[in-house]
Amino acid sequence: MSLTIKKSDQLKAKPDEHHLGFGSHFTDHMFNMDYDPDKGWHNPRIEPYAPIVMDPATMVLHYGQGVFEGLKAYRTENGGVQLFRPRENIKRMNRSANRLCIPEVEEDGFLEALKQLISIEKEWVPHAPETSLYIRPTIIATDPFLGVRASHTYRLFVILSPVGAYYPEGFNPIKIWVTRDYVRAVRGGVGEAKTPGNYAASLLAGNKAHLEGYTQVLWLDGVEQKYLEEVGSMNIFFVIDSEIVTPMLNGSILPGVTRDSVIKLAEHWNMKITERLISIDELIEAHGSGKLTEIFGSGTAAVISPVGEIKYGDRVYTLGEGRVGLLAQKFYAALTDIQYGRAADPMGWIEPIL
Ligand SMILES: *Cc1c(COP(=O)(O)O)cnc(C)c1O
Repeated sequence: MSLTIKKSDQLKAKPDEHHLGFGSHFTDHMFNMDYDPDKGWHNPRIEPYAPIVMDPATMVLHYGQGVFEGLKAYRTENGGVQLFRPRENIKRMNRSANRLCIPEVEEDGFLEALKQLISIEKEWVPHAPETSLYIRPTIIATDPFLGVRASHTYRLFVILSPVGAYYPEGFNPIKIWVTRDYVRAVRGGVGEAKTPGNYAASLLAGNKAHLEGYTQVLWLDGVEQKYLEEVGSMNIFFVIDSEIVTPMLNGSILPGVTRDSVIKLAEHWNMKITERLISIDELIEAHGSGKLTEIFGSGTAAVISPVGEIKYGDRVYTLGEGRVGLLAQKFYAALTDIQYGRAADPMGWIEPIL
């Protein structure tokens, strides 16, 4: 992919690394590339970060034909910058694209483009502990047309956002709320694609959880409302009787890169880990018999999110007496040590940039 590069002549002031928050600061440049049926994906370019001006009839605004990704660039102790399993994100972006009738992107060329963009923005990769540069590739349908069909033209863009430690007050267990009124996704739907509509669909349940004093929604499957699927926009793990259990990928669960990394690390350590159906009834029973020892979520943003309390119906179930579980702690440390280059990378997950 031969890229055109246009540098910004007005660089922004960098935000305070100790108060970055998540997703509210953006760097000086972005990547853009266009698709039309004649030229395919063309005109890859890095240019100043700028608004996208579009026709009000632009299809993504009306029919939601779009996909996105989320990954991070990490600053290592010796000042380098590296990515964690970026090809997994590009492959997943292409799988999401397929589901939404969006043309795929060539993996090697796009990875090169990501690396170039991050190299140009290297000063934006923060140095403070547990901070990183969040990378958001997005593809949107751009035909100005009202009528339901796949668009003929698309824009792919990548923006970058320096983000803070996910747990500024420390790594504390969250409280989650099981909803019986709403579902996130159904098998055969778009739950396994990273597409904006899934997140819009989750907002109302999220608001209700917050009103009840809970941080995230624990989603049950959309067909029987019986099997556990995800927590908020994270995958979920349970430790029952010394076995680590995570819901099997059934078509409505988003296949997380962090989820896959937890599974592979557990296997590498010869721990017992199983991907299978797990029902809310089994979970409640395991809690009752004292066999449920931990629950944690996994995702790029938070890495690992320990769970300390679940509300299901009128009952509240607590876990771990407010402390982070041993396995949640172990996976968090192992993953972040690899990501920040503090530990060896036995799995070959690191893609150095600088
Ligand atoms: C992105 C996402 C995840 C986590 O995926 P990672 O690749 O680990 O970041 C899990 N569930 C949903 C719904 C997601 O959107």
